[in-house]
Amino acid sequence: MEKRRIGIMGGTFDPIHIGHLVIAEAVYETYRLDKVLFIPASAPPHKPGVKVAPALHRYVMTVLATVGHPAFSVSDIEMRRPGPSYSYDTVRALRQEMGEACEFFFILGTDAAKELGTWNNVDELLDLCHFVAATRPGTQRAVDEVIQQFGAKGQAKIHPLSTPELAISSTDIRGRIQAGQSVRFILPEQVEAYIKKEGLY
Ligand code: ATP
Ligand code: MG
Repeated sequence: MEKRRIGIMGGTFDPIHIGHLVIAEAVYETYRLDKVLFIPASAPPHKPGVKVAPALHRYVMTVLATVGHPAFSVSDIEMRRPGPSYSYDTVRALRQEMGEACEFFFILGTDAAKELGTWNNVDELLDLCHFVAATRPGTQRAVDEVIQQFGAKGQAKIHPLSTPELAISSTDIRGRIQAGQSVRFILPEQVEAYIKKEGLY
């Protein structure tokens, strides 16, 4: 039987924006995934000391952004686990939950791909899943260097994918909201409405 192909899109999603959605869709389409799970982190290990919006708000915004896509859904697996959210723990838990009949494709933006070497248990994580790293013409070399860094395992398990990676970040969006500038078309309308209603950022 062919394995189910599951995409994993981890992030802080503070807030989720079209940059996230566009790379998830590109990987979904190119790798013929059955499903993409968006997983908001509880306490992002790469951002110690940085203030983030409460996990429940980030979860709701991620649901609002993905609800219209038949194959996108949101998992609260990291929010239910206390302490920092290590992807290694998450992928192991998903493997236990979903069994061996699944193949995992962890989706990364270029900035996250460049940091892969610093991830907790990254070597073991590479045994558990594939990584698909979004690249643009200007970032291909950086991602190739990361692949080199992991040798044969990197070649086998880390896959660059040229995507329309947009120059958008959550940090930038929070700044725009604080400055009273427009974020229209940078994030889904429902997410923008939710931010306004809850007075986030
Ligand atoms: P922040 O500015 O707070 O770091 P962010 O916009 O980078 O937020 P994250 O939640 O940190 O968003 O990122 C989650 C994942 O999405 C990471 O793999 C990151 O590389 C990727 N990503 C973020 N922004 C983009 C973008 N514009 N295009 C493609 N991928 C992105
Ligand atoms: Mg980031």
